[in-house]
Amino acid sequence: MGTLFRIVLYAHDADAARAAATEAFARVAELDAALSDYDAASELSRLARRSDEEAPTAEVPLSRDLGTILACSLAWAERTGGAFDPTVGPLVRLWRRAVRQGKLPAEEDLYRAAESVGFGLLALTPDARTARLLARDMRLDLGGIAKGFAVDEAFELLARRGLERVLVDGGGDLRVGRAPPGRAGWLVGLAGFEGTVERQWLVLEHASVATSGDLERFLEIDGVRHSHLIDPRSGRAVTRRALVTVLGERCTDVDALASAVSVLGVDGLSALGWKPDGYELRVLSLDSAPGAEATLWLTEGLRDALSSEEPETPSDPGP
Ligand code: ADP
Ligand code: MG
Repeated sequence: MGTLFRIVLYAHDADAARAAATEAFARVAELDAALSDYDAASELSRLARRSDEEAPTAEVPLSRDLGTILACSLAWAERTGGAFDPTVGPLVRLWRRAVRQGKLPAEEDLYRAAESVGFGLLALTPDARTARLLARDMRLDLGGIAKGFAVDEAFELLARRGLERVLVDGGGDLRVGRAPPGRAGWLVGLAGFEGTVERQWLVLEHASVATSGDLERFLEIDGVRHSHLIDPRSGRAVTRRALVTVLGERCTDVDALASAVSVLGVDGLSALGWKPDGYELRVLSLDSAPGAEATLWLTEGLRDALSSEEPETPSDPGP
């Protein structure tokens, strides 16, 4: 997944905790091997390549992990009107190449790639045990959801081993359980935009947080920044500059939703028929005009929860 995973936990039995953490990291490595779009040998890549030979493909059997995450990805594609789309791979490839070459993709290449993109082209059976790809040259990309899924899987494995004071961090997308001993929660810092909005802090228990719209990876041409997030509906890279943070129960869901809202923007989100009940959002946007101020948009539940100073986490009364 091209990132660093980190586990922090408190336990009475150090050996048992270490053994459980080792198992959790092995689970993450297993998912990385199955779900990577960079690795041509991954189950995900092999599935996508079936569409190079024939379209529609035959029914391809899926591992339980791949079936689960594809089903979840399609559910998010439907909820977000295709702003999140696991079939966006051909466009992601073109834009990755554009970043390497420092120039925008050719129109005809974008047009051709778009013919192999669309979540309706990925057909899963209801039990998610098999899939068919309906167009030629499809490529699947779980970069917007797989980290969150791996965090959940590691977290749930640790919970099954009886570890509940746990933080699992997958490169900034994270899930926390019960607070550390003597604390009200886990202290989580949310990035700001340099010079305008400072870092903000949250104290969390039993929740997941994901942020999308990383400001480091982009292609700048004529002063316009093209992000690594692609709007599958237009084939274009997102040029709106925003940091989107989503809070919710499961990391899989907040990861996907953060990517989707990066594509949709706040206006696009409210235009959907679907309301993000059960989630809290923070969208920090920067206007492209030089010297523009950042604007901060928060859902109700976050208004009092965020602080701009690193809080002293108050002691909890203990178990
Ligand atoms: P990050 O990788 O910076 O944590 P995200 O969770 O937002 O950020 O995921 C971005 C990745 O998701 C991209 O690098 C790409 O692999 C994939 N992606 C890009 N656009 C979309 C999209 N519209 N829907 C689903 N996945 C996308
Ligand atoms: Mg994401």
